[in-house]
Amino acid sequence: MTRVVVIGAGPAGLAAAEHALRAGATVTVLDEAERPGGQYHRMLPRAYAARSQHRLQHGWRAFDRRQRRVREHPRCTFSARTSVWALEPRADLPPLVHLLRGAADAAGGRAVLDPDALVLATGAHDRVLPFPGWDLPGVFTAGAAQALAKGERVLVGERAVVCGTGPFLLPVAASLLEAGGRVPAVLEANPAATLLRGWAARGWELVPQAGKAIELAGYATGQLRHRTPYRTGRAVVEARGDGRVEEVVSARLRPDWSPVPGTEQVLPVDAVCVGHGFSPRLELPVAAGCALDRGEFVLVDGDQRTSVAGVYAAGEITGVAGAPAAATEGAVAGWVAGGGDPAGITRLRRRRDRGRAFAARLARAHPTGSGWPGWLRPDTVLCRCEGTDYRTLRRALERPARSGARAVRLGTRAGLGPCQGRICGPTVAELTARSGGEVCTVHHRPIAQPIRLADLAGTPEKERDR
Ligand SMILES: Cc1cc2nc3c(=O)[nH]c(=O)nc-3n(C[C@H](O)[C@H](O)[C@H](O)COP(=O)(O)OP(=O)(O)OC[C@H]3O[C@@H](n4cnc5c(N)ncnc54)[C@H](O)[C@@H]3O)c2cc1C
Repeated sequence: MTRVVVIGAGPAGLAAAEHALRAGATVTVLDEAERPGGQYHRMLPRAYAARSQHRLQHGWRAFDRRQRRVREHPRCTFSARTSVWALEPRADLPPLVHLLRGAADAAGGRAVLDPDALVLATGAHDRVLPFPGWDLPGVFTAGAAQALAKGERVLVGERAVVCGTGPFLLPVAASLLEAGGRVPAVLEANPAATLLRGWAARGWELVPQAGKAIELAGYATGQLRHRTPYRTGRAVVEARGDGRVEEVVSARLRPDWSPVPGTEQVLPVDAVCVGHGFSPRLELPVAAGCALDRGEFVLVDGDQRTSVAGVYAAGEITGVAGAPAAATEGAVAGWVAGGGDPAGITRLRRRRDRGRAFAARLARAHPTGSGWPGWLRPDTVLCRCEGTDYRTLRRALERPARSGARAVRLGTRAGLGPCQGRICGPTVAELTARSGGEVCTVHHRPIAQPIRLADLAGTPEKERDR
């Protein structure tokens, strides 16, 4: 019987597990979170004993049925609070999976799995472009603000502006409003014309995505009810305050996102939630040796196979198209990884192709403008962990001998702090590329998750699936 290991229990990973089980495989699902659901179906902690989670989330009942089917299946081992800290590549076989059970700083719990097939479904984290004052307390990534509101019922502020780009800004504002906060404005950086061009082109192709449209309409109605304006072509270009955010300066943007002088407006707030799209979590695919598509996403074929034997990828790591598309990709990956006949899932693959087209549409409607460095000042912090500012990076890039990616990192310390470049990495890579410097992948991390030195030095328990 094929032994399939699935890393990630978000929409993609859960669907992969369910379809691998249907194909007859034994399945082990690993997720570092306490509960399944990933970013989309963020479950409240067990301690909250919440009875009506379905009221807070879209598609909750279908998700809940799926996660029960997977977790209660006799051929499935579901391992929550388990992080995969490394993948060990092998010739012509999927890599060995090194995992750690329990909290990152807990002792023991190290083990290694030897799968016949591996499905990577590790999702994404949000991308944030820097602006003056973004390192002040009170500035949050939109994802973090939403996670606190949705996953803990905690508000990041009483009065929070939501800004950046993408439809994700709407559910973030909705989560804040539902949790009792006030949102004075949602600011989308792209102008209405760009949004219209992206969303309206070949509009008939959107018909199968009606579910997403209804979901977005629900958020928009909620904002109307709370009188929250949605403004396009405008961005927060500065956050100010004494020790924490007290106000933001927004400005009108040209289509390339360079600010239009004289259009600045000041808005009093106590929190800023900012998101400029998503960065896929590529550490494990890169560690496995998977080829990337333009350095951005994992390259997969029509069956979600990566370039590495026995390794499949699904969800946000192959392109950003939302939870339903992630789940469909997961279903294809799981079915094929579990030994199912690819010819038996023609409809599923068609649905997956529509999801990919939706990802391309999303990228066209909400591009990142090239003029955003126009917001930066010499003292704007780029790497929040190490405090590296724009001036320091520019000086490093001006010296040809130091413009190599490694030299830039060591010379400026950008990306060497606790988050290991997860937040500043794409920004530094983009600014480096624009100045003609060498760009290296920001995802190369042989140790993907924190591990105690004692555990690293010890011998892992070797586990085999049933
Ligand atoms: C912060 C955030 C909030 C979002 N909120 C919304 C929303 O409200 N509405 C919406 O339409 N879309 C939202 N999205 C987009 C949404 O994430 C996707 O559409 C969908 O959840 C993608 O599914 P996925 O399975 O690919 O990834 P995810 O849902 O991100 O699931 C990935 C899973 O992999 C696990 N994982 C990752 N690395 C490891 C590792 N090394 N070891 C063990 N486990 C690991 C994670 O814990 C996670 O549970 C959000 C995205 C982010 C980043």
